[in-house]
Amino acid sequence: METTVGMSSVLEQDIREKFRRSGYTLTSQRRAVLEALKEARGHPSAEDVYLTVKRKNPRVALGTVYQALSVLEEIGVVDSKHWSESPTRYDLNVEPHLDIRCARCGAVSEIPGVELGELEENIRYNTPYEVKRTTIVVEGLCPSCREA
Ligand SMILES: [Zn+2]
Repeated sequence: METTVGMSSVLEQDIREKFRRSGYTLTSQRRAVLEALKEARGHPSAEDVYLTVKRKNPRVALGTVYQALSVLEEIGVVDSKHWSESPTRYDLNVEPHLDIRCARCGAVSEIPGVELGELEENIRYNTPYEVKRTTIVVEGLCPSCREA
């Protein structure tokens, strides 16, 4: 069953707006990378994105995918997360939220119900810094790895 027919219109509008403001162009390659990110459940690495793009676009180069991801990150369309012993993972959800990574199998999923805004508020209140970015890395054992 084919389910991926473009992105939701709200996300689409937001992305177009970010491209417009940045002066970058939403090229077909950048669009293909975005579609692959959307398709990949969880939080894919650049390599995962590359393999997905390659299925429809056999001649795409890994370097092209890296460049597209870097532009998308620069203009705030995607976020990247870094766990130790794992390649950088990319996330289309750029709202402040927590992700947890299984230390054994590497699966990454979102943690619901944790309010990060409050944390940033506290940091602003307790330090003279202007907070630009908060990254928290959480690791655990997923249910299947706990059973194994
Ligand atoms: Zn696991």
